[in-house]
Parts: sequence; C-alpha cells; structure tokens
Amino acid sequence: MARVSACTGVLVFVVACGTSHADRATSTMPPAANHAARAADSTQVLGRQLTRNTTIAVTSYEQRAFLELTLTPAVSAPERHPVLERWVRNPRVHLSGDPTPEDLQRVAEATQSWSLITGLTITATPGPAEIEVHFVPRADFAHVLGTDHLDPTAVGLTRVTIDPKHPGVITGGIVAIADDDLQVGRNRTIDHELGHAIGLQHSSCASSLMDGSSDAARSVRWTPSALDIRVGGLLYDPRLAAGFDAREVTRVLTPTAPVGVICGPVDLELVRAAGSDRHYLCARSLQTVRPCTADLSHEPKLPIVNPDAWTDGHTLSSRPRR
Ligand SMILES: [Zn+2]
Repeated sequence: MARVSACTGVLVFVVACGTSHADRATSTMPPAANHAARAADSTQVLGRQLTRNTTIAVTSYEQRAFLELTLTPAVSAPERHPVLERWVRNPRVHLSGDPTPEDLQRVAEATQSWSLITGLTITATPGPAEIEVHFVPRADFAHVLGTDHLDPTAVGLTRVTIDPKHPGVITGGIVAIADDDLQVGRNRTIDHELGHAIGLQHSSCASSLMDGSSDAARSVRWTPSALDIRVGGLLYDPRLAAGFDAREVTRVLTPTAPVGVICGPVDLELVRAAGSDRHYLCARSLQTVRPCTADLSHEPKLPIVNPDAWTDGHTLSSRPRR
C-alpha cells in the first residue's frame, strides 16, 4: 500500500510567492481487583495496552488541525479509510542523486528537528535505509517514485509504504526533491517532504511547513512552525497509535485546554528583483515599506537586522522610500 503526496512549487515572479511532548504514558494494566470491570475500557494496539479513558487536553483548534494534518490524505483516495500513519521503529535516511552542500545541511537539520518533535531517532546512513531521498530533476520524479500519476508542477513528492498487516504503520518512504528548483525553495521542500515521510499530511494553515498549496500567501520558511511541532508531537504521543481513525482520535484528544498553539501569521516572503535572478527574503507586515535580506543561507530572524533592500510589496529598492 502506498500513497504519493504532491507538493506544488512556489512560482516566483518579480514580487511574488509564495510541545511539548505530553508525558509518556506507561502501558500498565489496571490493578487486578478492577481488571474485569475495566477490561472493556482497554484495548491492545500493536502489543501496547491503551486505556480507553486516556485523554489528551487540546484546544478545539488543535484538535481540528490534528485531524486535518494526520487524517485528511494529501492525495485523496476515496476507497481508503484514513487512519493515523506513523513509524514504530527508528527510520534511517539515505540520500542519492546530486545534493548540494546546503541540501545536505538541510537534511541533517530537518532529520534532527523531526526527531526532536516525534521522539524518533532519524539517522542518515550511507547504506540501505527505510527512507530514500532522491535529489533529481522533476523529469525523473515518475521514474524514482515508480508511478506515472504525478502532479507535473510538484517540486517534491513523497511516497510512503504501509505495513499491510498493521494499518497505519509506516515501513518505508521514497522522497523526491527537485534539484532543478531554487535552493531556497528546496530548503523548504526537504523539511516538508520529510514531514510527509514521518506521517503528516497537509495543513490549510499558510504558516505551516505542511501547507501543500502553491498559494503565493503561504510561508516560505523551512523549519516547522509551532503548529507543526504540536501536531507532530501529538502524532507520536503514546496515548495515540498507528491505525487510529477519526473516531478514536477524537475520543483521546479532548478540546478542554484553555490555551494552545494557533495558526500564526506568515511573516516572510520571497521576492525576486525585476531584471535579475537575485532573490530576497522580506519581512511581511502591515508596514508599507519592509526590510529585505539577500542572505538566503539561513532562515532570517525577525526583525531583519542590516537589511540590504526594502520592498513595498511591488518593487525592491536599495534604500527605504519615504
Ligand atoms: Zn506536501
């Protein structure tokens, strides 16, 4: 069983584009005296005992965002009953193709951040691995992924394999990253596709790393947002399990928390200077004239210090306009 998640690219033109871990539950059996009475309240999932009255306090938004990011397939498959998909062992990552030094750095940082978020230990290996990441031209995506049904505008694609005997248990992943895309775009694609590889689907929150649209309003950041961290952490919470469907998830995630993460604003945009191939990351705000930086080697912190350009949303200039 496999699915392919397509992620469309961001067209850049002149000015365009666009947990905390809950406590680890122990799978203890109820005290013997109460065992019979409680037997109906517990269930065995992949060798772990889950108590039916276990709940995790979330906000209403977190519950909705979790259901969207985990149980709304990035590619619709009407015949399939969506369930939580996650690893039950630590996956290794192997790279092939022609990654740049910056690609290697991004993969290292992305595997580290997804490891911290999920509690998995995702390691790079020169040998055989459960997750194969291919840096190839878009024209080679179909070959790499072994399917012809691909979105031709995709700059990244991920195909995960599910254990046929254990619903929702991911056993493998093939990731294709377009090496003919801009480096700054690839930075985002790498983190996004590895998000798919660990079991996340798409988000409608424009500041989420897992926003799968090609909407110019979406974030160009390449690290997980607070929402991504919260949902990724919940996906691997021991009180949930691979194979849970929406009914089982909503039973565990109870919207009783007074505060939690929200869909934050998109705070950066990618801008190309007219007449050149030079790209800038510019602060996005209500201000008319906003600072930009041409240093795309790392994700900017806001406010941008020592800006080397300014944008008014339509044009770039080398000094702020009055
Ligand atoms: Zn995607």
